[in-house]
Amino acid sequence: MLRPLAAALLLSCAALSAANAQTIYPIDRADILVGAKFDFKVEFDGLVDRAAFAVTVSGEDAAKLFGKAPEFVAREDNKDQSALLLRDVALSKPGRYEVSVSDGKTSKKLAWNVFATGPRQAKNVILFIGDGMSGAHRVAARLLSKGMTEGKAHGKLAMDSMPRMALVSTAGSDSIITDSANSASAYATGHKAATNAMGVYADRTADPLDDPRVETISSLAQRRLGLGIGIVTNTEIEDATPAAMVAHTRRRAEYDSIVAQMFDAKPDVILGGGSANFLPKGAPGSKRKDETDFLAKFRDAGYTLASNGTELRSLGPDTKKLLGLFHLSNMDGALDRKFLKAGSVGRYPDQPDLTEQVKTALDVLSKNPNGFFLMVESGMIDKYTHLLDMERAVYETIMLDNSVKLARDWAAARGDDTLILVLADHTHPVSLIGTIDDDMTTTPNVPLRERVRVYEKAGFPNYPAADAQGYPPRVDVSRRLAMFSASMPDHYETYRPKLDGPNEPTSPGQQPGTFTANEKYKNVPGAVLRLGNLSALINASVHSGEDVILTATGPGSERVQGQLENTEVFRVMVEALGLGHGEQN
Ligand SMILES: [Zn+2]
Repeated sequence: MLRPLAAALLLSCAALSAANAQTIYPIDRADILVGAKFDFKVEFDGLVDRAAFAVTVSGEDAAKLFGKAPEFVAREDNKDQSALLLRDVALSKPGRYEVSVSDGKTSKKLAWNVFATGPRQAKNVILFIGDGMSGAHRVAARLLSKGMTEGKAHGKLAMDSMPRMALVSTAGSDSIITDSANSASAYATGHKAATNAMGVYADRTADPLDDPRVETISSLAQRRLGLGIGIVTNTEIEDATPAAMVAHTRRRAEYDSIVAQMFDAKPDVILGGGSANFLPKGAPGSKRKDETDFLAKFRDAGYTLASNGTELRSLGPDTKKLLGLFHLSNMDGALDRKFLKAGSVGRYPDQPDLTEQVKTALDVLSKNPNGFFLMVESGMIDKYTHLLDMERAVYETIMLDNSVKLARDWAAARGDDTLILVLADHTHPVSLIGTIDDDMTTTPNVPLRERVRVYEKAGFPNYPAADAQGYPPRVDVSRRLAMFSASMPDHYETYRPKLDGPNEPTSPGQQPGTFTANEKYKNVPGAVLRLGNLSALINASVHSGEDVILTATGPGSERVQGQLENTEVFRVMVEALGLGHGEQN
């Protein structure tokens, strides 16, 4: 028995050393939909003689299998490194594909799983993403919008009362912690990606736009089935989550290129903030680095434009292509828009609610007889949680739930032909630990931390009854939810909702690139300085790596159960749409 074991060890050592020799994209164990396009790339560590290397896929020469000759890059990025690139290829038969690459001295092997789907089950798919939505956000949204007595809530959230549920793991190809780019990309493409990357495998070259691409569900749905495509958010439309539905870049900050890619992709409905990168350089508020006027380009391409809630509500009945941009940057959250009139609401008094955006998107997209794919993001849950502004984050969760309810009612009225998924892209390390007992009228002579009530002393919060949309009209009540993040920069904890605008926990520190506690809150009665547990280079709370909750209803939702990789969410959607059924070319 000794000999075979030694031989096996030797083999695995050889495989290990060879593993450093080449990098292959798509990566090992990638799940690839039949017929979906991708770029195949091999990066060799050093210079390779073109005549010496061999690339086979399941024993067949790659060029022959894919039907085109690879591009050989003798010196990539002007360094002593060669590469091989085959763009826009696809595999039309399901099965396991062994990829083998040799440069004559070292070799590497990996395998892909190419999968087909069953026949189409759903006419439409709606993917709701609560950016950064964690367990505490959901529970707090339920408490505030439904109320609770004696431990029992007076109702369920629309997203909680769905028949299917799963845990979704969110790690990226480079890290256990994901950002919104690679997490949204996993849903949109079925491939794991690296932090900051969407629609690509981040390669070693400096160019953030040349990385090997994988096809998005938007492209597949348009190309194969003629579906309408909708992208709805309340953040900048170029931000990671909405952008990942159509764009390909390893650097999510490439806003100008993302706008251009969005124009090329031509989604039927685009609604959100972020008009700054649509305006030509020099126009007031523009952040573009060139003179292209993308509002004019979209208009010339047949899009109806809307810039505020009134315009969104008064669209003509024959609107088929819609671009609504309601803010130069991120839109304001529900707490500011509806109640506090803080943030930038003074400058943008007529921003639509996410529910209005969703309703309009459904109106426009449902005119497509082939069906549609719609992504809706409540994106400010994440932004506010980064800022340790828990009240605002919870109101954004309620807004997401209102949008889910609207879509569910819409789908039910049509006889449930629509797969609806609700999930987050990643979590925040935020927890509900009790209540804060403080009437905010007196100056406390002890730090407010002594008024954080836990266990039986926490009792129940006393927010006023929610309005028809599920929002309590006030958050500055005398028994408030105590929600804290386990990750934090140095900041002043005031234990109070910020009524004058979103929290700003940090300000620039003395050393360039560092951050320090924002002195603005130093003299708030009862405030305490909290020393952070993050590097001084980080100005806000960060994401965490727990699984997110996915709930689902409608045709194709049966696959939502147990624990899924985030890439499997793509598979749930393409199975529902039958995007890999029958002959695929
Ligand atoms: Zn975030």
